[in-house]
Order: sequence, then structure tokens, then C-alpha cells
Amino acid sequence: MKLKNIASRISNKVNRTLTDIIFLAQLEKLIMSKKKGAVILTYHGVDLNEDKRFNMRFFSNKTLDKHFYYLKKYTNVISVSDYFEQKWDKNKLNVAITFDDGYRNNFLYLKPLVEKYELPVSFYITGLNNTPYKFIWADFADLALYFTKSNSFVLGNQEFRKTINGSFINNEGLTPKLKIKEIGNWEYKKEFFKLFESEFNEIQKKTELLDYWQIMSDEEIRECANSPYINIGSHGFLHNNLNNILFENAKSEIIDSKNYLENITQKEVNEIAYPDGGYTEDLTKWCFEELNLKFQLACSFLHKNDFERNYLRSRLDLYPVDTIPNQLSQIEPILTF
Ligand SMILES: [Zn+2]
Repeated sequence: MKLKNIASRISNKVNRTLTDIIFLAQLEKLIMSKKKGAVILTYHGVDLNEDKRFNMRFFSNKTLDKHFYYLKKYTNVISVSDYFEQKWDKNKLNVAITFDDGYRNNFLYLKPLVEKYELPVSFYITGLNNTPYKFIWADFADLALYFTKSNSFVLGNQEFRKTINGSFINNEGLTPKLKIKEIGNWEYKKEFFKLFESEFNEIQKKTELLDYWQIMSDEEIRECANSPYINIGSHGFLHNNLNNILFENAKSEIIDSKNYLENITQKEVNEIAYPDGGYTEDLTKWCFEELNLKFQLACSFLHKNDFERNYLRSRLDLYPVDTIPNQLSQIEPILTF
């Protein structure tokens, strides 16, 4: 087993270098046009220099420009609704592009790119603007824990201590973010926000950090919805993991989120991307039957019969690791014909 890992790592390294050379020689068609099938891509934030200090998910606008260039050239980029309705080109890789979390950086840096390449994309947005907490809780955690001078804190009667690599863990070995996901409810998150209130006040004053937590205003959401290339969908109301809270609470979060977005955009919202990929079978069925959310997005499927629900599809999560040619070559079909 161990030997196989090493061998495959060596061969991966060779493949990765080869991919770089192929793109450098402008022979990328060899890789890109070989792919056939369909995939939905998940991106999150966009910044200007791909800063990975706080989290590993933000692509720079320059990298995304390259992604869009090659995707437009070699794949069939389609909207999420067309993906569900299987409006596919059988001879190509069909790609639907999605961005989660509704960051202001999507409005600032991504909307111009989408309009430059004329590509359909979906943005999945929370209702956090209608609360006193105008940020995604995970970004609050990433930033507050990065900048705090504390070496330990108590949350929900449990102590979290700073380890040698700078991350915090409790005595179950869980980081605050994992524990917050496990507990699920909003009260526990509010307790966490209270603990790091002064750190976050300082963070909010720093303009160079705005890209890493600020979410779109109502007016910016409206402007995105008015773009012919952008479709707006729900990402829950508070970004709670909807499989870890009471069914009734999950339902009201989705109703609130749908009402909030429809009120802003004046368009029907029929797409949802479940926050952190968390959902239950009952919730997906209820969303489809009661709210006409006919295009629902998971990360990976969580339950046995998920694929048979034709209103639910999985996605491929992308991270800005490796070189751009290798990022592109890792875009593989989730569905094949
Ligand atoms: Zn999210």
C-alpha cells in the first residue's frame, strides 16, 4: 500500500510536469478536448493575489481569467438549469460554473470576467444581510483565529487550545470550525462571535482584508441578478449546515432565503446550493415539492439514492493548488454519457 502511494505520487509528479509542458507548447487541445461528459464546478471567493493565509479556497481574478478562457475554448459551458435539463453537447465536456457564499469580491472581480467571456454562472447567496452578522461564520472563524493573540478560549464549556502549528483544537481533537459544524445551531455560533468580537472589529477596519469576509449588499445582488449571465440561487439564510439543525428550522431558513432573494431580484429562485454540502433526504424532497427548488446542488452525495433524485446533483470543488494547467486538467466529468 505504501509503495503504491509513493509510486503513484512519482507518476503524478511526472504527469503534472507533462501537463505544464503541453500547455506551454499550446497543445492543450490534446488534454482539454479529450474530455467528454458533464460536471458542475464549485468556486467560492475571488481575490487579487490568491492569498492563502486565511483559507485555501480563494482564486485570484487572474487565475479565473485563464480558467474561463480555456473552458470557453474547449468545453461547452452551460447554465445550471441547462445542466439539469441535460442540454448537453455529447462530443464535449459540459461544464456548469457555480460560486458559493455571495462574496462582494464576486461582484467586484468576477462579474466583469463573466461578462467579458459571456459565460453563464450561478451565485449562491445567504440572507445574512438581513441579520446583524454580515459575514459567513466560517470566514469569521478563519480570520479571528488567525489574528487573535489568545492561546486558548472556552466555547460551550469546552476549552480550545492553540497547537504548535497555530490551529486551535479541543480535547476531542476538533478544531472550532469542525465543532461548530457538529453543533450546528446558530446560538453556539453567536457565542463564538461574542468571544472574538474585538478581534473582528479590528479585522473589519482593515481594507486589505475586506475581500476575505465581506458579502454583497442587496444592491450588488440586484445588479448581479440583472446581468444576463448571472443566475441567483439560495445558499440558506445563515449558512448553517442544514443537516445538523432541526428540520423545521432548516425549512424556515430556506423559505426566508428564497423570499429574501426573490424580493431583491424580482425573479423566481429555483436553485439552491446546500451550505457546506449538508442536507437530508427529507429536506431535498420538501424543497422540490413545496418550494419548486428544482435545481439543488450538493458537494458530494450523502445518501444512497441521491443520484436517482433528478433535482439533486453533485459538484466538483476547486482549489487554487498546483499550476493552472493542472487545475484545468483536474476538471473531469462527474457524469458520463
Ligand atoms: Zn458556503
